[in-house]
Amino acid sequence: MAKIVIYEPSGTSLTYRVRSRYSIRLWSVRNSKWLEWLYHTFADALLALHPMWKLLGYQRIESPMVAVEKRIKSFMFDCRMCGQCVLSSTGMSCPMNCPKNLRNGPCGGVRANGHCEVEPDMPCVWVQAWQGSRQMKGGDAILNVQPAVDHSLRGTSSWLRVTSEAALERDAQKSVETDNGKAA
Ligand code: SF4
Repeated sequence: MAKIVIYEPSGTSLTYRVRSRYSIRLWSVRNSKWLEWLYHTFADALLALHPMWKLLGYQRIESPMVAVEKRIKSFMFDCRMCGQCVLSSTGMSCPMNCPKNLRNGPCGGVRANGHCEVEPDMPCVWVQAWQGSRQMKGGDAILNVQPAVDHSLRGTSSWLRVTSEAALERDAQKSVETDNGKAA
């Protein structure tokens, strides 16, 4: 027989707790289309500011950048600061929230309702990832095989790493074009 409860303090019911725990993360997946646009715009802005980051020193700005990145991404995606972000390839659903930390798709234990086998209340991050990716322009990147997590990067800034790598690539491209121009 079900237990009769006369008073249940607000915000303590199991369903409320479960819903509120994942609601922002699920919202981000539902809004992956414009978050993808926002991410690319933001990444372009960070890249445009590369001369300034270089002047200040990437090492010196790392700590404040990590603090900002952690705060924003923890709120939006329940980010675990793995340091090698793949959100733009996983429908804005962070794979590090998978209890098995799977980075290349779901395990075989996804429940019929699309929830996780380890945490039955939690929607499987990979089911979410697939749904989010279907709304994104670059959503097919979900099919790319991701390398194993490099734990030495944990707690570092993905934003800075992606920016510095993109700047290097851009500079290399420019010098090739200059060399080709001289040779012509
Ligand atoms: S993939 Fe890594 S950096 Fe990106 S949201 Fe997840 S834990 Fe954070």
